[in-house]
Amino acid sequence: MPEDNPIPSRGPACLICGKPAVTEHRPFCSKRCRDIDLGRWLRGVYRVETDEGPEDDQDPAQAG
Ligand SMILES: [Zn+2]
Repeated sequence: MPEDNPIPSRGPACLICGKPAVTEHRPFCSKRCRDIDLGRWLRGVYRVETDEGPEDDQDPAQAG
C-alpha cells in the first residue's frame, strides 16, 4: 500500500525525529530511528570501554 499522502498526527510521534510513528516500528517511524534510540540507551546501560568511538574523527592510521 502506498503511503505517500501526508497523514495528520493520528498516532504517537517518533521519539527521534518526530515523524508519525508506524505500527511496524512503534514508537518510531523507521528502523533507523529505532536503532538510534536503542544505541542511546545501550550506551547508557552498558558502558562499553573502547578506544574508538562512533563520534571520534581521529584516526592515527590515517594520519600522515
Ligand atoms: Zn523517526
